[in-house]
Amino acid sequence: MKAFSPKYILSIFLFLGFSTAVFGQDLIARQAPIDRRMKSVDSLAINRVIKKVLKKKLELNEIYPSWNTSKVHCYNDAEIPETFNIDLRGFKMPTPSRLITSRFGYRQSFRRMHKGLDIKVYTGDTIVSAFDGKVRIVDYEAAGYGYYVVIRHPNGLETIYGHLSKQLVKAGEEVKAGDVIGLGGNTGRSFGSHLHFETRFLGIAINPELMFDFVNQDVTGDFFVFRNSDCNRGVLAHASTSTSKRDEFLQGGHATAHQNEDATPAGKFYQVKRGDNLSNIAGKIGVSVDNLCRLNGIRKNSKLKPGQILRY
Ligand SMILES: [Zn+2]
Repeated sequence: MKAFSPKYILSIFLFLGFSTAVFGQDLIARQAPIDRRMKSVDSLAINRVIKKVLKKKLELNEIYPSWNTSKVHCYNDAEIPETFNIDLRGFKMPTPSRLITSRFGYRQSFRRMHKGLDIKVYTGDTIVSAFDGKVRIVDYEAAGYGYYVVIRHPNGLETIYGHLSKQLVKAGEEVKAGDVIGLGGNTGRSFGSHLHFETRFLGIAINPELMFDFVNQDVTGDFFVFRNSDCNRGVLAHASTSTSKRDEFLQGGHATAHQNEDATPAGKFYQVKRGDNLSNIAGKIGVSVDNLCRLNGIRKNSKLKPGQILRY
C-alpha cells in the first residue's frame, strides 16, 4: 500500500509532466496540439488525485479528533463548531421499513434519553449503510446495543445500527451508501426485533427524524444545518429553524412519541411480500384498506415494496 501513497502518485504525475516538457522540445512543432492535450489530461488527473486524497483526509479524519475502534462515545473533549452543514445527498435509507416504533427523546419508563430512532424490522432483514463511509466499530454490548455497527461518514456524521442479528462488515472497512452492513435482530437491550438507528455529529446525538423521513423513505432536505446552540447535554432533539411543513409534521409526531416510550412496538405488523397489494393484504389480515392507510401514513395508490412493514 505504501507504494501508492499520495506523495508517490503525485511524484509520478510530476515526473511525467516534467519529462513531457523536456523530451517534448524537439517535437513541439509536429506535436504541439497533442502535447497540450496530454498536459491538460495530466493536470486533470493530478487535480483529481489531490482532491480525492484531501477529501479522505479532511472528511474522514480531521473533523474528528481520533479514530477509536472500541469506544462508541469517545468525543468528550472534541471541539464542537458553532454550525456545520451536513450534506445528506447520496443517502440510502438503512431499511425499507417505514414504521417507527419508538422515537428519539426522554423515556419516562427507563428514566433516560433514547438517543436514537427505533424502526420495525424483522430478524434477518437487510440493513444498509446510510452513506458512504468507513466502519469504525463492530462489537457487542449485552446491556445496550446488542450486536452493533458504527460507521463514520465523510459528511461529518456517524451512524450507529443496533440490535442486529448479524454483522456483515469489519472495522476499518470502507462502505458505500446502500451496502449491506448487517441483518436486523433483537439482540442486546431490545424487546422485539427492531433497528435502533442513531445519527451523531462529534458524539452529539441528533434526532434522526430531523434528517431522515422513514415514512416517505427520504431525507428531509439536501443539507441539515447543525447548530451547537440547539444542543442540550450532548443531544440535539429539535432544530431551531423548523419552518418547513415537514418539521411541523415532525413536531406533531413527538406528541405520539410518548405513547411509544418503550421499545416494545405497539400493534401487529405485516411484512409486504412480492406481488402484494393493499387490498389483498387487507383481506389476509382482516383490516380495511382505509385503516391500513391511516395507520401507516400511506395512500390507497401508494406503491408497496417487498420487505416494507405495515402496522395494523
Ligand atoms: Zn432504540
